[in-house]
Amino acid sequence: MKTAIGLDLGGSFIKYGRLDQAGRIISQGQVDSGGEKGRDEVLKRMAGAVAGLLEGTAPGEVAGIGIGTPGLVDNRGSVFLAPNLPEWDNLPLAEIFKKKFHLPVVVENDVNSFTWGEFKFGAGKPFRDIIAITLGTGLGGGVVVNGKLLRGGEYSAVELGHQIINYRGPICGCGKPGCVESYVGAARIAARARRLLKGNPDSPILKLAGGDPKKITPKIISAAYRQGDPVAARVWQETGFYVGVMLANLVNIFNPEAIIIGGGVAQAGEPLFAAIAASIEKHSFPILTTRLKLLPASLGAESGLKAAAALVFYPPE
Ligand SMILES: [Zn+2]
Repeated sequence: MKTAIGLDLGGSFIKYGRLDQAGRIISQGQVDSGGEKGRDEVLKRMAGAVAGLLEGTAPGEVAGIGIGTPGLVDNRGSVFLAPNLPEWDNLPLAEIFKKKFHLPVVVENDVNSFTWGEFKFGAGKPFRDIIAITLGTGLGGGVVVNGKLLRGGEYSAVELGHQIINYRGPICGCGKPGCVESYVGAARIAARARRLLKGNPDSPILKLAGGDPKKITPKIISAAYRQGDPVAARVWQETGFYVGVMLANLVNIFNPEAIIIGGGVAQAGEPLFAAIAASIEKHSFPILTTRLKLLPASLGAESGLKAAAALVFYPPE
């Protein structure tokens, strides 16, 4: 049996594991990324995790190392511009691990990796053309066309969150006006709730946030929704509308069979998904949505590891 080593690198943690060809986890662990101590410390901790996972494996058993990382990744597996990790720029990540462990190494941007993982092991498995998005602090996503991960010419990022849906809109974190992320990021969702609360003092949202409007989160809005709060319903309706506008553009371009939605904010579930579906239908060509499926991501909390294993067993070209 061949196995793969997966590393899922985040701003705060490194998750690591060894997985089989079906994406099942054989062993796993997690360490602080140690980013505050600098780039070499992060690399040291990643290498330590790999060494630990390799211990006791038979020669030739491990097929390779897959790494999902924040930032842009070029076609040689080097990383650029990852804002939450120190000096994670112009870093030949694949080269470093190849030299150290003499194994094939596949490095991919974390959201592309998520997309590939869902395509190979998750909700995207039955299809050849999918779009996957993650809704959380920001909006990320990836596109699979005819079974191939869309990677562009040199860098593998598909910056779905920075599609401009209103060129006169609010300035996004990236400095440009009206990106979809500036309408649907977690902070914007909380701001939307605060605005709607002004005319609706009876909503349970504020109480659930302990009376502090700054503590409103998507999770709290969902809790209010379950209590039947119309303000919470309105928040998800508006948020889903904007996500749907962005996806409608993609549906018209790519004609996907399925759109897969993951990330913390996607936990809002039914009201958000229904609003997204309605908005896609309203804003895209009707014939392209008749068979389109809108599905929740299915790989769960360990999706980063499963995706990293998918990179090894099915390297995206
Ligand atoms: Zn932007």
